[in-house]
Amino acid sequence: MSLKYKYALSATGIFVAFLGFFVILGWFLDSNFIKHILPGQVSMKFNTALCFILAGMAFCTRHIYYLRKWRSITCISACIVLLYGGISLLQEMFTEGFGIDEFFIKDIEAPLRFESNPGRMSPLTAGCFFLTGLGLLLQDSHKRKLLVISQYLFHIITLVAFICIIGYIFNVPRFYKWHFVNSMAVHTAITFFIMSIVATLAHAHLGIPRIFTASSIGNKIARKLFFRFTLYIIISSFCCLLLYNAMPQEIEFTIAFFTVISIVAGLYFISKTAIDINVLAKKEKLAEENLRLTIESAPYAIILSDIKGTIELVNRQTERMYGYSRKELINENVGMLIPIEKYTKAISIYKPFSQLQDNILFDGNENISAIKKNGEIFPVELILTPIKTERGIMVITAVNDITVRKRNEETINKQLEELQYKNQELEQFNYIASHDLQEPLRTVSNYINLLLEDYNQLFNDEVKQHLSAMQAATTRMTRLVRTLLDFGKLGHNRKLSLTDCQMVINDVTTDLNTLINHNDACIIITTPMPVVYAYSGELHQLFQNLINNAIKFRKKNIPPRIKIGHVKKNGYFQFSISDNGIGIAPEYSEQIFHLFQRVKNGTEYEGHGIGLANCKKITEMHGGKIWVESKPGKGSTFYFTISNFKA
Ligand code: ADP
Repeated sequence: MSLKYKYALSATGIFVAFLGFFVILGWFLDSNFIKHILPGQVSMKFNTALCFILAGMAFCTRHIYYLRKWRSITCISACIVLLYGGISLLQEMFTEGFGIDEFFIKDIEAPLRFESNPGRMSPLTAGCFFLTGLGLLLQDSHKRKLLVISQYLFHIITLVAFICIIGYIFNVPRFYKWHFVNSMAVHTAITFFIMSIVATLAHAHLGIPRIFTASSIGNKIARKLFFRFTLYIIISSFCCLLLYNAMPQEIEFTIAFFTVISIVAGLYFISKTAIDINVLAKKEKLAEENLRLTIESAPYAIILSDIKGTIELVNRQTERMYGYSRKELINENVGMLIPIEKYTKAISIYKPFSQLQDNILFDGNENISAIKKNGEIFPVELILTPIKTERGIMVITAVNDITVRKRNEETINKQLEELQYKNQELEQFNYIASHDLQEPLRTVSNYINLLLEDYNQLFNDEVKQHLSAMQAATTRMTRLVRTLLDFGKLGHNRKLSLTDCQMVINDVTTDLNTLINHNDACIIITTPMPVVYAYSGELHQLFQNLINNAIKFRKKNIPPRIKIGHVKKNGYFQFSISDNGIGIAPEYSEQIFHLFQRVKNGTEYEGHGIGLANCKKITEMHGGKIWVESKPGKGSTFYFTISNFKA
């Protein structure tokens, strides 16, 4: 339901309930103005006011969002209104009182007006309440038929109330009196009129409101014409009545006057309507022209054809793409331009009317080709959109020439293959080189050991010192070669599995227990860690490297304090590991993730500059990235992301 209708329904509910309260107040204060509005006319009865409060409450609880928890009141109120109306009608039929008329308050002035049933609402009012209650109950139904009935119940109320109002305007008591003592009060009639019209907006697409609320040209014209026409009839008739009252013997003059102003007004309405239609038709023509221009200048070939495939329209790009002229294509079969089996498939899928809005895409992966006039075959991508027209189903086909894209894709794929091959070669070289380097290193180390153990007495202290330095260098080199080997092996035999990050962190802290205790480090998990699809061994290594660095690069005299957290973003998890360590200068924030790159070397902090290169490789394996935000002396926060892989 449109929001403006919802507002109208809520406002009407409040208005009707408020009016009911007001009239009840009038009864307690014995205010003739509130009860009667028009002096000398009947009053709105206490029970009528009560029923309006209930009907207003039913509107409010159904349509005001904040009162939705009181939704059950809608049904209860509608039932009471229905019963009240029904019992009042029965009383009238059987002239039998059931004691509801003066149940709440005594109508003391009724006998003065010779009213036979004091406090009783008029049968017209009772009937309208009966229909209101029934209409409100049916409005909750899910069956279209019952909803239509509820709309027509409200239309009957509108008609009855409208006749009463006209009766009051033109002072024709027969219009608002059932019989001379029981009539509908003027404010009762107005309230019923407004309430019943607005009530039908709850299902504006059904019944008479559809004519006025829909958005087609006819509906727009009907809306304008109806209000103008009604207003004219009421005003002109009223003028004629005044004229007749002023000159009762000149009835012919009044009729002639009415005829003249009706013809003039009719002319005015016709010309106004003609102008409105012209404006709307102009807008439609403009929209059509814009659509034609858009189709004509589209970068795709656009073809309009009927269900059999007969071409009715093509754009300029179709001529350019295929080399045919428009004349050569119109009335030919679409199979000339696209594979006909795709066309038939689209039609067969989209025959049901309910699905006509959808379109079907045959993209580049389907390897579809089309043939130009000169016989050249080229790859295409198709979008077929069946549309409803006054001549039945038609199909708009958009054809995109993807020759350049395919060529680029081929080039990229070839380059990718080459790159992969080169990468493999490089990895193999790294593996073989580091593996083979280990052997001579081991030999050198063994010989140094041999010299130091077996010929110790032959060397003076200086030679011994040199030999020890050589021994240390070979050990360092062995470690470096092993690290290189590990880096090359990273990700081999990997397998994605459901990994609980909390368990991974627990394992890491157990492994690093000595380091943590020795440095008096404190690790705080700020958010509950997620379970992710990951290469668990590699994820362990990633957390270990980052936590290890956060402890290693600590400030002197300040125990490391490490916070680990994460946020879930659209399609990935973003983890953060922050410390209160020495921090990193911004100029190093990229470089530290490259192999063997360090900010502080050797002596102060131990390491080879390989840990973060490993971390980068691991995050990339997980479809993520890693970066650092830091300021020297202010600690660092390392962020890394992991794609939210599905099993
Ligand atoms: P390594 O720790 O072996 O030196 P890494 O690749 O792990 O190698 O780190 C590279 C460099 O990044 C380190 O040398 C260090 O200067 C800097 N770095 C890494 N983590 C931190 C940290 N948490 N705080 C400060 N500097 C760090």
